Amino acid sequence: MKSLRVFVVGAGLGGLAAASCLRRSGFDVTVFEQAAALGEVGAGVQIGPNAVRVLHQIGIKDGFEKVAVRPISLDVRDWETARIINTITLGDTYEARYGLPYYHVHRADLHTLLADAFEAVAPGCIRLNAKCIGLEQLNSEVRLTFDDGTSAVGDVVIGADGIHSSVREALFGPDNPHFTGMVAFRGTVPLNRLPPGLIECKGYNWSGPHHHFVHYLLKGGSLVNCVGVCDQDDWRVESWSVEGDMDEFRNECTGLHDTIQALIGGMDSCFKWALYDREPLAQWSRDHTTLLGDACHPMLPFLAQGACMAIEDGYVLAHCLRTHDSVAAGLKAYETIRLPRVSRVQLGARERGKTLHMSDPKAMAKRNAQNAADPAMRAREMDWIYDHDVAAEYGVLNEPQPASR
Ligand code: FAD
Repeated sequence: MKSLRVFVVGAGLGGLAAASCLRRSGFDVTVFEQAAALGEVGAGVQIGPNAVRVLHQIGIKDGFEKVAVRPISLDVRDWETARIINTITLGDTYEARYGLPYYHVHRADLHTLLADAFEAVAPGCIRLNAKCIGLEQLNSEVRLTFDDGTSAVGDVVIGADGIHSSVREALFGPDNPHFTGMVAFRGTVPLNRLPPGLIECKGYNWSGPHHHFVHYLLKGGSLVNCVGVCDQDDWRVESWSVEGDMDEFRNECTGLHDTIQALIGGMDSCFKWALYDREPLAQWSRDHTTLLGDACHPMLPFLAQGACMAIEDGYVLAHCLRTHDSVAAGLKAYETIRLPRVSRVQLGARERGKTLHMSDPKAMAKRNAQNAADPAMRAREMDWIYDHDVAAEYGVLNEPQPASR
């Protein structure tokens, strides 16, 4: 199936990683992105060893290490007193455990690396201003139509168009998200606006009833990425780009530790995202079209694995199309391999959210005591996610053949 024309709808972290994996598997790949310019929001993303393995396979290694930060630990603290509830050692310990480090990286930096990696193997194959508005299965081909009136015909379509995926809707109809009652505020703070020594090269999770507040360093340690999640019932907009109100963010965090106040005090602006949950889909593919990343498994952010799973998806999809005789068999195999793993992560993230936002004092005390008694428990719980080695399971990716166009 080497000569397949594969269309990827969406140049997010998942779509671009998949495009490189597919091109390196010999396919003729075009990415269609609705935006006028490539880019990502100004926030951070945590990248576990499982996704780092994929990045290495598509040539993203040295550049990544230059822009990413390796935290030494994750400290879970009481958000009023700063008492450490438990510490998970990351850094060299994680590298020894999983063979690769755990990283924090600015989304825009990772996105640029992914776009450059694809451009290196498929120059000029990202089409911007290409909002997909229609999808039609022809005999053995698929036609995409775009909002500028143009269309394109290919052999396989991958909907990597995010949480509000139009490709998913074209295949399976509108989805039915459930509002969790949680809202995430996020913002960044230049480190030089904060008292020296206040923030170390760690992940921090400040824990309290109905709330938690996470922060970590980006951009060589010069920027602090903050996400505060609170139980709140009156905001229903699920979007990265909707601005929040700094006064409201401050009010939500009144009475919390001085470090949190300093972080919020150093922000110029924040964004506000209503957290919705969805049941795992039973099916991702129809005819010659499938889905990838948030388009098929949007998940709550509490295991920090949404982007990592999207990145893994592309590797497995490329493997399945490469090793099966027909598109239908390849897409079926992809779904069979990926669905159980990502569904488990989706459901695990849901459970982690409940644990993080406990409000009953007895239940909180019990959770904290368990975590303190066995600080390595959390690491062990994540083994099945971080240990996953796509290259060992599905073979290494080669340098691509010369483009067929
Ligand atoms: P997206 O990043 O949404 O990309 C979709 C792309 O498709 C966009 O470029 C969009 O413009 C384009 N598009 C949309 N519609 C169309 C169309 N009709 N035609 C053409 N193009 C289209 N994950 C982690 O792994 N680690 C973390 O630490 C982490 N932290 C998070 C924190 C928060 C608060 C949240 C909300 C999420 C977090 N995630 C994290 C999840 C992660 O952000 C997502 O899972 C990931 O970005 C999904 O990537 P994607 O490529 O599937 O979709």
